[in-house]
Amino acid sequence: MDESFDFLVVGSGLAGLTFALKAAQKGRVCVLTKAEISESNTSYAQGGIAAAVGESDSWELHEQDTLIAGAGLCDPDAVRFLVQKAPETIDWLIETGARFDTGEGGLSLAREGGHSRHRIVHHADKTGWEIERAVTEAVRANPNIVVYENAFVTSLLMADGRCSGAEAHIGEIGVRRFIARATLLATGGCGRLYLHTTNPRIATADGIGLAASVGASIRDMEFMQFHPTTLYHPQLRSFLVTEAVRGVGGTLRNHLGTRFMYDYDPRLELAPRDIVSRAIDAEMRKLDTWCVYLDVTHLPKEQIRAEFPTIWDRLDAVGIAMYKHWIPVVPAQHYACGGVSTDLAGRTTVPGLYAAGEVASTGVHGANRLASNSLLEAIVFAFAAAESLDASERMSDGGESIRRRSVAEADAVRIRRSLQKTMTDHVFIVRRTAGLEQARHRIAALREEYGQLPEAPFSSYSLETENLLIAATYVVDGALARRKNVGLHYNADFEESETTASSA
Ligand SMILES: Cc1cc2nc3c(=O)[nH]c(=O)nc-3n(C[C@H](O)[C@H](O)[C@H](O)COP(=O)(O)OP(=O)(O)OC[C@H]3O[C@@H](n4cnc5c(N)ncnc54)[C@H](O)[C@@H]3O)c2cc1C
Repeated sequence: MDESFDFLVVGSGLAGLTFALKAAQKGRVCVLTKAEISESNTSYAQGGIAAAVGESDSWELHEQDTLIAGAGLCDPDAVRFLVQKAPETIDWLIETGARFDTGEGGLSLAREGGHSRHRIVHHADKTGWEIERAVTEAVRANPNIVVYENAFVTSLLMADGRCSGAEAHIGEIGVRRFIARATLLATGGCGRLYLHTTNPRIATADGIGLAASVGASIRDMEFMQFHPTTLYHPQLRSFLVTEAVRGVGGTLRNHLGTRFMYDYDPRLELAPRDIVSRAIDAEMRKLDTWCVYLDVTHLPKEQIRAEFPTIWDRLDAVGIAMYKHWIPVVPAQHYACGGVSTDLAGRTTVPGLYAAGEVASTGVHGANRLASNSLLEAIVFAFAAAESLDASERMSDGGESIRRRSVAEADAVRIRRSLQKTMTDHVFIVRRTAGLEQARHRIAALREEYGQLPEAPFSSYSLETENLLIAATYVVDGALARRKNVGLHYNADFEESETTASSA
């Protein structure tokens, strides 16, 4: 069965929902999202959203910091567009109902690595959750927006060289086609490419798989951002242990108790994130261990509890008492800087298809993302895309889609695990050409194996796995093609890179 809307949105994170709100001023909008509406990377964002709204700040300074982080590979026009729009974006969020922490002079602004000023607008340590709550309520109240949850988009529709909508598998309804004048991909990140990631389960690169299937241009996938300290624990796999724990004197130790940062950088645990991540990775490989440890046991119990209440509670729940136990940590994938290429109005290279948020590559991040620029980017470019929509664009009467094949879940699990191990072994923080070549062959073999397995009933897990395989190919090909170390891409066979401060 077909349904028609003016505009179709795939994904209900910040990019998808802000686009929907703006597009609803021009026509009827349908949002398709594969889990519950709030299940997204957005809901897990902790630190906040960057905007030059402080008295001593300016968009020029925000621009400069973003360009420095991007290590020379940002698109300057995209960066300027982003930072100039930031203050009005915060105003819009407040009007929409998001509550941010305030101090005496107005908004309370935090400062994060790579920012030359205090400019992070936040809601305690759960800013993403608060923003997602506010935009979700606005979407629910908008009569021009229809939301389908548990609606897994399997493929895009194409008619006369234009994207004319998408096909989805919806919970108890089954397969349905959605025809639209324009379709936005807002499917978020691809953290599940790796064994360790801060991203939730939904981050399976579906947008990359969908865009690739219709020939959209995809770029810079090798610029993968890693966070140095996430908890190594089977029950809390994605839990991030903030940099602030090192800021108050937390030390990193190997399993023998040695404070190994002395061997890597004179700034020790407070070296830039990329360097700390690389040091941990090197130490784990050197000693053949699965994690290292973060130690704050020298601090008074009361101080730890007061400064890190959330981390205290979460660790306590799994039997780790911060005041007497070392915290097992590993570096983990955190953010994909590359993605589906777009212009400043969110247009991909395929007519009728737009992209915004983490799945998109607007050119803002270059070779490394500046802290807290991604929530901002999701809104600014989703708005720009909605503004450029033409409500009189011809509506197709259908379209063709690529047929997707699911395989048995047990096979998909095995293939996904093998992929994650390959990516973690060879396409992680420190890469080598031989390892990348090995990864390329392994991924090609897994893709072939997937294609040859017998077809099974629809399984979103299986199609996600296929999307991850497609995205992995882009990451590895990008890493092999990049002949110089820059920003987040580090190949140990090349000379030392220029590292940059990165992000939250
Ligand atoms: C732990 C953590 C902390 C972070 N902290 C910060 C921070 O402090 N500041 C900052 O700026 N950024 C931060 N980030 C990054 C930021 O949260 C994300 O980049 C941003 O929220 C991405 O928004 P999005 O709308 O593009 O994607 P998401 O919010 O991930 O939404 C993607 C949506 O697409 C849906 N979807 C995916 N595939 C399909 C499909 N096939 N069919 C239907 N629906 C689909 C998903 O279900 C989801 O609804 C953090 C990220 C993490 C994980």
